[in-house]
Amino acid sequence: MSDMLSFDDALQRLMQAARPLVEIESVPADAALGRVLAEPVVSGVHVPPLDNAAMDGYALLAADWQAGACLPVSQRIPAGSLGDPLQAGTVARIFTGAPLPLGADAVVMQEDTETGAGGIRINRPPRPGDHVRHRGEDIRAGQAVLAQGTRLGPAQLGVAAAVGSTRLPVYRRLRVAVFFTGDELIPPGEPLPLGRIYNSNRATLLALLTRLGVQILDLGQVPDRAEATVSTLEQAAREADVVITTGGVSVGEEDHVRAAVQRLGRLDLWKVAMKPGKPLAYGQVGDADFLGLPGNPVSAFVVYTLFARPFLLARMGAPTSPPLSFQVPADFTWPRPGSRREFLRARLEAGGVTLYANQSSGVLTSLAWADGLVDIPIGTTVRPGDTVRFLPLGEWLQ
Ligand code: AMP
Ligand code: MG
Repeated sequence: MSDMLSFDDALQRLMQAARPLVEIESVPADAALGRVLAEPVVSGVHVPPLDNAAMDGYALLAADWQAGACLPVSQRIPAGSLGDPLQAGTVARIFTGAPLPLGADAVVMQEDTETGAGGIRINRPPRPGDHVRHRGEDIRAGQAVLAQGTRLGPAQLGVAAAVGSTRLPVYRRLRVAVFFTGDELIPPGEPLPLGRIYNSNRATLLALLTRLGVQILDLGQVPDRAEATVSTLEQAAREADVVITTGGVSVGEEDHVRAAVQRLGRLDLWKVAMKPGKPLAYGQVGDADFLGLPGNPVSAFVVYTLFARPFLLARMGAPTSPPLSFQVPADFTWPRPGSRREFLRARLEAGGVTLYANQSSGVLTSLAWADGLVDIPIGTTVRPGDTVRFLPLGEWLQ
């Protein structure tokens, strides 16, 4: 017990070792999804560029309105064209997004008007500013709209486009090599001899890394032999920034990955007081970081999301924050206080959060079923109605 590291200490040690990338490249904005901004994006324009209509309707000077009176329509301003200054005592037909003519200070919705003799009648008194979007109310020229370190998702790419960016300065892609050991593993597609299992960690890890936006070097399965492991690790460390493997890092286990890392570089093996999980290996081989995840598929996934993912994000140049979590009522009983922090596969439902029946770290279907994890502190029991911390999985899959 005493040689166990707390979850927080282990995470802190790992994060301290994460050296952010420094190499910058310029990429077309259209190809920047998932990349990390290396410099802020500063707008050269106001968005919107001019005061404009938020609704289809009529632009006018609010003070010109009189109950029951008809106002003549003096011009028509579609989106994309500039109207003329508004003639006093008239309204301009205007469409959403069209600039307000000079002299107007409000827009009335067409739903609030009717056609009358020689013009339109407005049935609701307008106030100055009604249905007007103001120049620069979204973005002001000179404003930094996206900070350095931002991961570029759909909304961020929209903002970059709104200020006219066509190329974006980003950190180069992080290169991550993966390989898998364990002579029990068979790649899907091959017949399954008795006593062997299909390699599922590869599929999960490749998908997680694809979502993260790193450049993947998939070295596949490596036979459980010292020479093969050393040569694969050597290649991985030469060609990638980070090398990730799953399995074979259990404490005291006879394992070639561990021996290979120790032979080519250095290795810290941590027993983290968490479940699923526990073994986590961090090391360095040449210039590359090495991360050894547990072999059990659920443990590998959970340790990836709680440790490897923030580490990789920090390496990619994106500032990391603690995973999103919120307090929810439990709709389950957890009767035994544990000596390790537990991350249970759970689902959020109307009556509270429920657990997958089998919480074994080998049961991968629990993860496919779950939409989050419940975080149970050491020494805690839970009864229905108690409040527990829920970590939604959605965030981690990005
Ligand atoms: P290990 O950490 O190597 O002791 O592995 C722990 C458990 O995870 C064992 O039951 C392994 O068979 C299993 N395991 C290891 N690697 C994989 C993998 N890539 N896919 C599925 N199961 C694995
Ligand atoms: Mg093994």
